[in-house]
Amino acid sequence: AVRVRFAPSPTGFLHLGGLRTALYNYLYAKSQNGQFILRIEDTDQTRLVPGATEQLITDLKWSGIKIDEGPGIGGKHEPYLQSQRLSLYNNAMKKLLENGTAYYCFCTEKRLELLRKEATRAREVPKYDNKCRSLTPVQIAKNLGKNLPFCVRFKLSYHADPFKDLVYGDISYNVSENEGDPVIIKSDGFPTYHFANVVDDHFMGISHVFRGVEWQISTTKHILLYKAFNWTPPQFGHLPLLVNSDGTKLSKRQGDIHISQYRDRGIFPEALANFVMGAGGGFNRKPGDNNHIYTLSELAEMFDVSRLNSHPSRLNHDLLNDFNRMEIQRRIDNKEACEKLVKEVSELVLSKYSQNYSNLDLDESHVKNILSWSSNRICTLKDLVDAKLSFLWIRPTVAILSDLTEENLQDLLCELEESTFHKDDLNVLLKNYAEKNNFKFSKMMKTFRSAISGLKEGPGVAEMMEILGKQVSINRLKENLK
Ligand code: GLU
Repeated sequence: AVRVRFAPSPTGFLHLGGLRTALYNYLYAKSQNGQFILRIEDTDQTRLVPGATEQLITDLKWSGIKIDEGPGIGGKHEPYLQSQRLSLYNNAMKKLLENGTAYYCFCTEKRLELLRKEATRAREVPKYDNKCRSLTPVQIAKNLGKNLPFCVRFKLSYHADPFKDLVYGDISYNVSENEGDPVIIKSDGFPTYHFANVVDDHFMGISHVFRGVEWQISTTKHILLYKAFNWTPPQFGHLPLLVNSDGTKLSKRQGDIHISQYRDRGIFPEALANFVMGAGGGFNRKPGDNNHIYTLSELAEMFDVSRLNSHPSRLNHDLLNDFNRMEIQRRIDNKEACEKLVKEVSELVLSKYSQNYSNLDLDESHVKNILSWSSNRICTLKDLVDAKLSFLWIRPTVAILSDLTEENLQDLLCELEESTFHKDDLNVLLKNYAEKNNFKFSKMMKTFRSAISGLKEGPGVAEMMEILGKQVSINRLKENLK
């Protein structure tokens, strides 16, 4: 069975890169009817950020990812927090000590520092010299008896075979030549990332690992650990760097920001998913689908590992707004989603205007009209509460003086009732009406503008009426033309 995991460290917030990793794992799992597991890698106790785990879960849920097993969700491999799995790592460590692939190391921080300094002086990459490999059982027992601080290291002594990266193809890296024996259990009793990661992936039954390419160089080491345990490693696929469209690193302003900042800007998760995946590949847009936003389930259906790009994923930030506009349209076209949009817009309007205005036009049908009028004009729903569009929501209350008689007004309202309410038709109607009643057209339009919008300037009167729709326009004229 396919089982994947997303394994963030709770050292900060979910950014675009993390979301991308989570999405690809999720889509792969769903494309294979597999499971998506969330595991929190919190073994570096010095870097924990309080609340980060809860926030991660909130962000993943918002993005549409359904977590099958994880902290707070449960599952047959609980707990999903590494800090609560220490005995497991401890037992695994004992196994390696017993079979001779791991050893106690009593080197002091001072000695290690010295090694680093020497290497730097010789212009070499610092690495541990594997000194404690050669300690005899008697020496070890003596040191342990004296309660000397120790860590446990893994012997990088097997030959490291190349491995097949699902994205990059054959990767070979001679790890034992380039690195000293890595620590697997630190002197505080906590496992290192490398060790806990391997032990957990094994016991959690993980079949495929998709993660950032920065981990590719560690994979050989991980595979050697699997070998030492006599376990079968999962398959690995590494995801390339996410960069700006000009190839530069994502900045704090663009992209390298907490996912919730996109949400607060009014970006929908589907738009964000299509945006990152458009850059990373993994599927082909169907012909004619250029303006189509794919939902996560559609993406899962189309997902194909062999289509994942191995070149850096260039993000064209301008596209995000376009994707969001398309997503608004997609939601408008879906009955249920549209009802939610109506609610969201109403809430936005209320939170912006309800303090100062009690006379807001927020009928469901009105909000729906506005949504369909605006769908190809706005990037986020927030654009609808832009000051320039306040006339959409705020019903003007000023009494407007005009030369209208009650009869004139009834006549006008009847004609409007019959109208198609297309801007052009409305223009003709208003012109004829002015002529028929001997009103000066420009003066009449000024009055109508105030009655409709309470504004002195803005879009043409007919256009505003078309946007507001028949019911709202007629109501406003009725109330304000005196
Ligand atoms: N905890 C690692 C990280 O934050 C996980 C890497 C992996 O997926 O193996 O990126």
